[in-house]
Amino acid sequence: MLATEPGTSGKRPAPPNELVVIADKPRPKPKASRPTPIDPGFHYHRLRKTVHVICVIIFFLLPLTNLMRIDIPRQRCFFFGYELLISEFSIIFFSMMFLMFVVAGMAIMWGRVYCGYLCPQMIFSEASITLEGWLQRMVNKYVKADAPKRTLISRALFYLISGVAAVVLSFVFIAYFVEPRDLLHRLLSFDIKTAGGIAGAATTLLTLIDFLFVRLTFCTTVCPYGYLQGMLTDGHTLLVHYRDDSHECIECMKCMRVCHMGIDIRNSPYQIECVGCGECIEACNVVLARLGKPGLIHYVWGEQGERLGTGDKTWFQKIGLRDAKRVVLMLVLLFYAIGLFTALSMRHSVLVQISPVRATLYRLDKDGTVYNTFRLKAANRSHQQQTVVLGIEGLAGIHFSSFENAVVVSPGQTVDRDFEIAASPGTGLIAGVNHFSLSSRVGNDREAFDETFITPFKDSQ
Ligand code: SF4
Ligand code: SF4
Repeated sequence: MLATEPGTSGKRPAPPNELVVIADKPRPKPKASRPTPIDPGFHYHRLRKTVHVICVIIFFLLPLTNLMRIDIPRQRCFFFGYELLISEFSIIFFSMMFLMFVVAGMAIMWGRVYCGYLCPQMIFSEASITLEGWLQRMVNKYVKADAPKRTLISRALFYLISGVAAVVLSFVFIAYFVEPRDLLHRLLSFDIKTAGGIAGAATTLLTLIDFLFVRLTFCTTVCPYGYLQGMLTDGHTLLVHYRDDSHECIECMKCMRVCHMGIDIRNSPYQIECVGCGECIEACNVVLARLGKPGLIHYVWGEQGERLGTGDKTWFQKIGLRDAKRVVLMLVLLFYAIGLFTALSMRHSVLVQISPVRATLYRLDKDGTVYNTFRLKAANRSHQQQTVVLGIEGLAGIHFSSFENAVVVSPGQTVDRDFEIAASPGTGLIAGVNHFSLSSRVGNDREAFDETFITPFKDSQ
């Protein structure tokens, strides 16, 4: 560049006659070699969407096929082929606790994998966001109208589809607590008087509000599970981590744009909003793979740990069993599952309970016969009619009085029946307490109940 001399007012000076400068022809710059793209690696987005579809199918199937359902009106619980009465609350309670422990165990080992891959709130919120964007694009593409009208049409369509989806999803959700055919009948008759109808209407409204306005804000403001992560995770928990020691980031912001939670993972791997979905990992891999470089965001075992799937660890360490705490946790869950399964499989098809009615200890007839009253409760938990046959064992001289000791119980029915056992005079029973057994037999299933037969005490004779 030529310097401007003072007093020339910025005009380009004429070159001196005696000096002619012949510039070299600029040489062509050597072409930068095109980077060779590499494989972007695992498709986390595809995996998530596949898992989401499977979860939605399971969400629909569990109540509609009676695989898992708490039938509140009929006071029973269906759990993978087992039909539990509400009176068997302990098994229902321990089954629920088991599911909670599984989710907590997953959080300790794999961070918020439940939130990112399995949570219905996340699945339906993402579906709502995707649907809204897709409708806007379709309307823009196919509807010939000005921009405000196109927005109006796409909003109207979105509200309409969301309304239908809210009704369907609420129906399935309430079907976890009310028998589906009964619920359908209530829905078709626009029942908003009974508890089931009111619950259905309220759930539909809440689901619609969730779809339209709340969505993933729920995860970061209301849901307590996200906050529980901080207490459950430790230095070996799987998390999503950005590491760029050689300053390779091209600031394309793709990782931020794909994040439904609206965060920049480059700031910290411990942001409470991060659900560990892995979308930013795939986004960065895809961008940098075009430049022939590996991505900068990875799943890692703790901030300083190695990446998922790398290292020379054993298979169980690679899946997250990286210390004694996790091994113990897995063993506890395993024993819990075995105990639960054993308890379920040892259940009798008919729950029989026999207890003495001690409002009066005994009844003495004029002819000297002594009567004791007992109460039978039989609940049929099977799908067939069952007959409960009672028997007396271990005490000669007593018999059922005016009671047919075979009680027929229909499927799902609970029978409560009082009956008397009598001892005629001169049967040789001791005065006071006589021990014996009452047995119940349902098919090949037999149970015995220790009971007492009380006769007048010596000092009352
Ligand atoms: S930061 Fe990445 S892993 Fe975390 S929620 Fe966003 S996209 Fe998912
Ligand atoms: S996607 Fe990768 S390269 Fe792009 S801004 Fe995020 S971390 Fe940087």
